[in-house]
Amino acid sequence: MASVLIVALAFAASAQAKEPQLKPPLHGFDEVGYQNVDLRGGFWGPRFYIHQRTTIPHVIKKLEEHNHISNFDAAAKALKSGETHKTDTSGIVGHSAFDSDVHKSLEGACYTLGHCDNPDLQKRVDDILDRILAAQDDNGYLISYFTAKEPDRKFVDMRTNHELYNAGHFFEFAVEHYRLTGSTKALDAAKKFADHIDNTFGIGKRYEVCGHQEIELALIKLYRITGEKRYLDLCRFFIDERGHAHGTERKPFIPGPFIQPKREEGLTDEQYKKVVWRSKLYWRNGRMQDHKPLLEQTEAVGHAVRAGYTYAAMADLARFSDTPEYAKAVRVLWEDVVNRKIYLTGGLGTNQNDDEGFGDPYLLPNKSYCESCAGIANVFWQQRMNLMDGDAKYADVMELTLFNSAISGMSISGNRFFYQNPLESKDGAERSSWIGLACCPTNMARFTPQVGNLFYAKKNDKILVNLYGSGTGAIQLTAKTK
Ligand SMILES: [Zn+2]
Repeated sequence: MASVLIVALAFAASAQAKEPQLKPPLHGFDEVGYQNVDLRGGFWGPRFYIHQRTTIPHVIKKLEEHNHISNFDAAAKALKSGETHKTDTSGIVGHSAFDSDVHKSLEGACYTLGHCDNPDLQKRVDDILDRILAAQDDNGYLISYFTAKEPDRKFVDMRTNHELYNAGHFFEFAVEHYRLTGSTKALDAAKKFADHIDNTFGIGKRYEVCGHQEIELALIKLYRITGEKRYLDLCRFFIDERGHAHGTERKPFIPGPFIQPKREEGLTDEQYKKVVWRSKLYWRNGRMQDHKPLLEQTEAVGHAVRAGYTYAAMADLARFSDTPEYAKAVRVLWEDVVNRKIYLTGGLGTNQNDDEGFGDPYLLPNKSYCESCAGIANVFWQQRMNLMDGDAKYADVMELTLFNSAISGMSISGNRFFYQNPLESKDGAERSSWIGLACCPTNMARFTPQVGNLFYAKKNDKILVNLYGSGTGAIQLTAKTK
């Protein structure tokens, strides 16, 4: 077992942290950023090297080949010419979430550049950033697909169009770009887009949520780096609004007529009860955890990635605001997942209901779904539970998932990927060099180089050591306030 050397810079005002000041949590523990955790040797060192040399160049090349990046050029052209197209002449390729893959990869590049000097890569990131920013509308809106191809459908179909998901990933990239470079170029654009969203959604404005959660987590990061409370408030709005009837005011969701599913011959009462339960899940947004308010949810249902990001955001909200009710609610969901719905690898999702999501309690077939993104989301969630409560049981699940269901999504060579991580394969499951739906490869691109963030946590004069690894951590402690 490799050793961990902690250099605790207790009460030292002149510690080395170069990173911008982040809003500290109101409750619980604070992160120790990867910038202060050196994992150059041991298990992680070679992976960081491969990540820099292979993974990041590989995903950027693929994103160019598959037009994710040139979609921004198409949007910039549309803005410049004042022309928008509703046909294939728009130059847009792929679906409306393509932008998010670029943002995630560049976020990963920023973490990698935090580990090493690589002027060529830095230049590549900044060149692509310029192409992204050229696609930003004057009002802040920045999604290439809708700007160039379907301008009349901006913020129309919140359930399926991934707009705020794209936005969230852009915010996360912008925050890391600022932390790395000190340049506010990307961050200013992120704030402009976030302000546009804030002007559109919220109390007294439009009451809606995105079908694919992500922006909630990102808004917490934006709040911490800018100190602007309106981003924390907007995060809370989206979390509070989930599970309501969306529209022009906040009101309880009252289901419309439910069509009873047909009872197939031979079904037992118990089996038919499950069919009805699943139908109800589909009928009202259970896939996106939008079937009832999060504070009332006691069982993990639906898409596992969306659930993981949501639960992580609930824990963060409880840490950065006075909302103990969210801490309580997310602990209940944690018990359901960890006692009844998690694989022994820490993987989440059986896809039993064809929704990339959780299935029935205790039903965990070896032909598992366990999307790589769900493993990553679970690590992020467990990390935040630990930061909220400072309890090793969360760090244990984080470690389990990290090594068995998150990094399994990428080969040791750094350029082949799993979307699903089955525990059993009779037909030769293999990683591939790219996946058309590129959420997993690009999530791996941002995940590996940020694992330093997971190692430690701190609070006043306390340090939590969460993971084993060969390296050092430089941790600045402060005197206990009371
Ligand atoms: Zn994925």
